[in-house]
Amino acid sequence: MAIRAEYIWIDGTQPLPYVRSKTKILESGTTEFPIWGFDGSSTNQAPGDNSDCVLNPVFSCPDPIRGGDDVLVLCEVCLPDGDMTPHPSNSRAALVETYKKYADQEPIFGIEQEYTFFKENRPLGWPIEGYPAPQGPYYCGVGAIEIAGRDIVEDHTQACIDAGLEISGTNAEVMLGQWEFQIGPVDPVAVSDHLWVARYLLYRIAENYRVDASIAAKPIKGDWNGAGAHTNFSTNAMRENYDAVITACESLGAEGKPEEHIKGYGLGSEERLTGLHETQRYDQFSYGVSDRGASVRIPWQVHLDGKGYIEDRRPNANMDPYVVTRLITNTCCEALAG
Ligand code: ADP
Ligand code: MN
Ligand code: MN
Ligand code: MN
Repeated sequence: MAIRAEYIWIDGTQPLPYVRSKTKILESGTTEFPIWGFDGSSTNQAPGDNSDCVLNPVFSCPDPIRGGDDVLVLCEVCLPDGDMTPHPSNSRAALVETYKKYADQEPIFGIEQEYTFFKENRPLGWPIEGYPAPQGPYYCGVGAIEIAGRDIVEDHTQACIDAGLEISGTNAEVMLGQWEFQIGPVDPVAVSDHLWVARYLLYRIAENYRVDASIAAKPIKGDWNGAGAHTNFSTNAMRENYDAVITACESLGAEGKPEEHIKGYGLGSEERLTGLHETQRYDQFSYGVSDRGASVRIPWQVHLDGKGYIEDRRPNANMDPYVVTRLITNTCCEALAG
């Protein structure tokens, strides 16, 4: 008997990568997935005259679309040098190093992935010309006027559960056709691997509906919310005492840090982080309790309990979780260690 293993990787396209995948037929019962190769000249990862890149399996789970014994195999991309040197597009390798360095602080992340369904070049549910009624009734809405794409969301959520991903919730968003799912809280490497596989499943399932799921940061200009990837973070110290929560917030605002972080938080910060639509401006840093107009929010429950986690509201929907969780782990854990 044979099974299908869908090998998934992140390509080298600039400024935003695409998710790629291809199918490998394996003996059923395979538990150690072999390395594999691909044509990097077709994915912006290698020149044509030296095109081979290596797929190194790093995470696998049941394939909820094919079912049976079929599997999804998330891979990191390595150079064909015999040493499995990380390819320049491989942002996972650096995160693994950072996580190792600060593992004793037990950093965990919960990421809120917002996204927008598109069909025929407009958000799902939008009229052919003009705009739907202004924002207001869509967030967590119910009913055919308020909601578009719930059947896809339900399929995707079930798929994430069946795959064993750490999905923790979903909701309809402020703009019609915009949705969110949350992954975590788990360690930085796991949350990032699971998020990339959840994105793959979203694109793949929306295909069946001839719909495109977009993670663009500001899909519609004007008075419409952008799409973010709020990143919730804590360490063992933060889960114990409020001083550590404040130390983490302060470290994110330290000199040079806001600029360094914004650079790694995905494309479109200038368009999305305007100071309107529940955001702080991309060139200003602030933190506050319950403040959805701050860069970093301390949830009211955390303030009340005197311990817990913080929410970095700046990452864009199209961010790379390997980069975002590495930056936050580095900055906050370095400050908390000192
Ligand atoms: P909101 O929309 O109000 O910002 P959500 O419920 O969408 O909140 O997301 C909250 C996120 O916080 C969830 O993804 C959850 O996993 C995460 N979270 C909860 N507790 C912690 C914690 N101690 N450390 C890190 N993340 C956490
Ligand atoms: Mn949310
Ligand atoms: Mn949201
Ligand atoms: Mn949030």
